[in-house]
Amino acid sequence: MPKVLITGAAGFLGSHLCDKFIKEGFEVIGMDNLITGSLKNIEHLFALAQFSFYNHDVSKFVHVPGDLDFILHFASPASPIDYLKMPIQTLKVGSLGTHNLLGLAKAKKARMLIASTSEVYGDPLVNPQPEEYWGNVNPIGPRGVYDEAKRFQEAITMAYHTYHGLETRIVRIFNTYGPRMRADDGRALPAFFSQAIENKDLTVFGDGSQTRSFCYVSDLVDGIFKLLHSDYTHPVNIGNPDEISILQAAKEVLEIVENTTSTIGFHGLPKDDPKVRRPDITKAKDILGWSPKISRKEGFEITYNYFKNTLK
Ligand code: NAD
Ligand code: UDP
Repeated sequence: MPKVLITGAAGFLGSHLCDKFIKEGFEVIGMDNLITGSLKNIEHLFALAQFSFYNHDVSKFVHVPGDLDFILHFASPASPIDYLKMPIQTLKVGSLGTHNLLGLAKAKKARMLIASTSEVYGDPLVNPQPEEYWGNVNPIGPRGVYDEAKRFQEAITMAYHTYHGLETRIVRIFNTYGPRMRADDGRALPAFFSQAIENKDLTVFGDGSQTRSFCYVSDLVDGIFKLLHSDYTHPVNIGNPDEISILQAAKEVLEIVENTTSTIGFHGLPKDDPKVRRPDITKAKDILGWSPKISRKEGFEITYNYFKNTLK
């Protein structure tokens, strides 16, 4: 049975990846220090013989006994309010954490995939963003702690590939959503759904004309699984190119949530908030044969039902 270590396993994406790899017949070792994740997300896995879990901070030396075939490094605060609250931990997990896991991958001769992000493109000057675009990042702005940690993470991962011949994969993830996001993580969709369910006004930042392209979680997980098993070592964008304004997203949430009395309220735009974001997924299509399948309407419905059940 192939064996995979997944860091950030108790988080939103990490927990869905644990499910996927269990389903595909892997032995899964989850690792997380629970700073933004929750054991509730993986509670259902503890009974399984092929699942084990370490409560550990991967910015400190990482040890796992026995063989390892794959490492997926997903540990990191990921929402703007989380990484603004924990700037140093965010920088450390992207840099020291990634270094520790690359060292582990080298020692175990494992293949390592890292969770990079569309944030490496910063506030992009080209739209959609192809992988060849180098980005427009403010290193000392509030988002710099996250963006630069992820850019360093890509750099050190490529260096291990080039200089040590380590098998590496880099996924650049665009805004992904779905069940198991925290209602209070401050990201746009969990904020809008929980506000609408609780009849509070939706907090649209700026005039809401900034755009994002939202990918449903099962599509992302399928793309990551395909990338891991491909032989492509350069970064690959995985996301849904269906781009909408944040105001439009808020309006669609209000259409879906039954009997809400919420309206839309406008608030200040956070500093360095990217004005546009949309993945160019030509590479994912050509190299992995991947494209997203879940429409926004479908994904929003599932996500609404999740928040309705968790918030009641
Ligand atoms: P999340 O906050 O739900 O999950 C992150 C997990 O990492 C949490 O369980 C947290 O406790 C854990 N963690 C953080 N620091 C750690 C450390 N030092 N040691 C061990 N565990 C630690 O966030 P998410 O949305 O699931 O994001 C997961 C990964 O995907 C992150 O690396 C993030 O940067 C990346 N990503 C996510 C998105 C998205 O849209 N969700 C977009 C781009 C990139
Ligand atoms: N946003 C918003 N209201 C909120 C949370 C976010 O208008 O309550 C906006 C935010 O300013 C950004 C977009 O929604 O333009 C997406 O924000 P999110 O935090 O989800 O992710 P980002 O793509 O900025 O990392």
